[in-house]
Amino acid sequence: MSTQPPLTEAEQVPLPDGFYAVPDPDAPAIMTLWHVKDGTPKARPPKGTRYGPQALRKDIPGRPGDDEYIAWMRAHFDTVGAWLKRMRAALAANPPAAMRAYAALTNHCCNCGRALTGGTSKALGVGPDCRERMPHTLLMALLAEVKRARAIGGGTSE
Ligand SMILES: [Zn+2]
Repeated sequence: MSTQPPLTEAEQVPLPDGFYAVPDPDAPAIMTLWHVKDGTPKARPPKGTRYGPQALRKDIPGRPGDDEYIAWMRAHFDTVGAWLKRMRAALAANPPAAMRAYAALTNHCCNCGRALTGGTSKALGVGPDCRERMPHTLLMALLAEVKRARAIGGGTSE
């Protein structure tokens, strides 16, 4: 299926499947969680999660069907679309770092989402089964992220 508009260069950067945590590009204090599947990010948890610009009824002028209502909603969808592009760029900027951040925040495997138990799994952010089957290059990138984080501050972020 390819009914979507063509992607820009930044959007074409492939996102490895897995679980990501990155700050909202417009609100860095808000950490957003994502599950990338078949290259498409979906907000975590799947129910009730709202990131990005929201359409609150109190902010929308007029009534549904009014010209001003329709104009506001059109502008809102443009705003959301632009935010989604910035969000995707943030996810694509450093997938291994974002996946490592997800595991560190949630204590769940950044590849399959299952809870991490063993010390090695927690340190790496990947469970034993996924260490066997995930792409070697991605595993090495995650390991490099762990080493980088330790070098910076003994495991604390940034
Ligand atoms: Zn896993």
